[in-house]
Amino acid sequence: MTEQAIRQDLDADGILTLTIDCPGLSMNVINEAVTRDLAAAVERLKTDPAVKGAVLASAKSSGFVAGADLKGMNFSAAAGGDGKSREAQIYDAVCGLNLLLRSLETCGKPVAAAVNGLALGGGLEIVLACHYRVVADNPKITLGLPEVLVGLLPGAGGTQRLPRLMGVQPALMFLLQGKNMSPQEALGLGVVQAVVPAGEVLETARAWVKANPGKHVQPWDEKTFRFPGGVGHMNPAFAQTFMGATAMAHRQTMGNMNQIKAILSAVYEGSQLPMDRATRLEAKYFAKVAADPQAGNMIRTLFVSKQAAEKGARRPQGVPASPTKKLGMLGAGLMGAGIAMVSAQAGIEVVLLDTSMEAAEKGKAYTADRLKKKRMDETKAAAILDRIKPTTDYADLAGCDLIIEAVFESREIKADVTKKTEAVVGADTIFGSNTSTLPITGLAEAWTKPDNFIGIHFFSPVEKMPLVEIIVGKKTGPQAIAKALDYVAQIRKTPIVVNDSRGFYTSRCFGTFVQEGLALLEEGVAPAAIENVARQMGMPVGPLAVNDEVGLDLGYKVAQQTKKDLGDAYKPGPGEKVIETMMDLGRYGRKNGKGFYAYPQDGSQKHLWPELSAHFPLATNQPDPAALKERLLYRQLVECARCFAEGVLETPQDGDLGAIFGWGFAPHTGGPFSAMDTAGLAHVVETLDRLASGHGERFLPPQMLRDMAARGETFYGNAARKVA
Ligand code: NAD
Repeated sequence: MTEQAIRQDLDADGILTLTIDCPGLSMNVINEAVTRDLAAAVERLKTDPAVKGAVLASAKSSGFVAGADLKGMNFSAAAGGDGKSREAQIYDAVCGLNLLLRSLETCGKPVAAAVNGLALGGGLEIVLACHYRVVADNPKITLGLPEVLVGLLPGAGGTQRLPRLMGVQPALMFLLQGKNMSPQEALGLGVVQAVVPAGEVLETARAWVKANPGKHVQPWDEKTFRFPGGVGHMNPAFAQTFMGATAMAHRQTMGNMNQIKAILSAVYEGSQLPMDRATRLEAKYFAKVAADPQAGNMIRTLFVSKQAAEKGARRPQGVPASPTKKLGMLGAGLMGAGIAMVSAQAGIEVVLLDTSMEAAEKGKAYTADRLKKKRMDETKAAAILDRIKPTTDYADLAGCDLIIEAVFESREIKADVTKKTEAVVGADTIFGSNTSTLPITGLAEAWTKPDNFIGIHFFSPVEKMPLVEIIVGKKTGPQAIAKALDYVAQIRKTPIVVNDSRGFYTSRCFGTFVQEGLALLEEGVAPAAIENVARQMGMPVGPLAVNDEVGLDLGYKVAQQTKKDLGDAYKPGPGEKVIETMMDLGRYGRKNGKGFYAYPQDGSQKHLWPELSAHFPLATNQPDPAALKERLLYRQLVECARCFAEGVLETPQDGDLGAIFGWGFAPHTGGPFSAMDTAGLAHVVETLDRLASGHGERFLPPQMLRDMAARGETFYGNAARKVA
């Protein structure tokens, strides 16, 4: 028997206060103990004549309830001994909570929710099952149903109560996008009935229960209930909403996300049913989605691994916390300006150094510009800007406890700024390079203590991209790793930790996706087919479009540098000729308005350059889309597997997080390692061998993958030992 999670206190007025307080946790979550105690409370409400009504509250200052305990859910479990399928087991479990909340709202006594802080997922679903809902007046409080973001749908009545409160159209927006609402928004949408000062929430809830003994029926259980906005396929607004929402959802997810279809179905069908049947219908859809490996993979990467990484899963143990107070930012270009901005926003002092005062000032102006666009309060924006000191003088770096360089991608220039910085701050300071291609171990030679040298690789635009790739050079020590991870935590981004290699992990694997797209173009595949298939497999944009965004000349320069570095060992990548042709044609991508796409001067939508086929003639026989998809996918998978085999990656968690958050690898898969585990490594090896025989050795699986497949292993099964 686990400890009590909900305390019951009956006052003189017969009002039962149910205080949720999950033992040993900083935040309330819905787990077995909460469900058990809630069931007992509902039973008492129904049967104890001394109880006139109830108030649900939280004892935690962190909020009301953060949602279901996703970490505690065992989505990968096989069918149980009772012979029931996993789907049936999940259905039973979900129905349990669903029916419990239904009995709460039909218990015959008024129940109020006193919401002192965030109420998300199952937390908000409990609130919605109460007859009166009051929330603290604090714009930072978030209320929402974010299940969609981790591959699930709300399974405790959320898909049914939210539309009945606010209408189908606005409810779908929250359900399909997982968007949160503030207390004031919730009030406007009828999700809560009152917003009061924080100290008055509980009292307001109690006073309502006391004053309203007869208000124990939800609007949707009243005979006179009218669904806001109307429902039913004969209702033109309802039909149009679903036509629009289905098309939009499909456009965004290409039909890859099971939970999107399930949410649409649960709302469409459920809104036309009485509540008792509607909640069972929701449970059916929930079970179907949750039993599919897709949900387990998404939850693991997008929730469990992400949280673990942000909490320091890869931080070396025993190194004291070392948050950055003053950052020395070398280079105030695109990346330097962005890094300065996110650092200053996190409260860090920044010395922003460039070769001219004009360039340094321009870097600072980037922050001013972005904050203005965000319409940030002027006093707040001024405080952030005050923390950025533009300079050309190395002496200003004195006192910096972390340096990051983002100067031009040249070994010589990087070595020069590294040495000049060491002369001021000393080699005990941690130095991070934001290089995208140059191996860290080599760059570290310019710093007297290479153990204090590390790669801190950001993505562009820095203020939007959530990932930072930490690169450990051959001599990088634990202090540098800890410092870099503490800094990433300060700026609230998600870190992965990888070992040194050309292109590290993300650029190297992402590059294969781009190159394979070029190879297909070179072979005469229709450019539109390449782009569409990539989007269909869940990539945010096609390889040709992304090449245009990054700049075709960048890929060309990287290839030239690699050629120079590797000499005879250099093997030209597929599609290199395509880039050379485009260089000859002066087409560099979006930056000069000419790339694989044409960018009309009048600002109208870009479109594939019609003359591409003149330079890359179309093959008579066009391959099947499934074959194209397989190549674009497996070319990435094999490179990821190689990174694991070579030790560039130490955990599949880093690999999955880096892929999804770094280069937009199809999120519904949970990442390349989850995708390989789900497909089965034997199947992956077999497919790669077939592709290698048809398209070249770049598809050949590494020996480690063959061995793992032969032993029937999985990445997660095997790598679990390596992570905390
Ligand atoms: P950029 O050309 O926009 O900026 C480079 C800045 O460095 C310029 O302002 C330049 O004046 C300054 N600079 C050059 N030499 C200097 C010196 N000796 N001392 C001080 N400042 C000097 O380039 P960027 O896109 O910001 O890239 C910078 C670094 O970040 C490169 O190493 C690049 O590979 C890496 N990177 C770029 C991206 C990207 O998407 N652009 C992504 C990740 C990493």
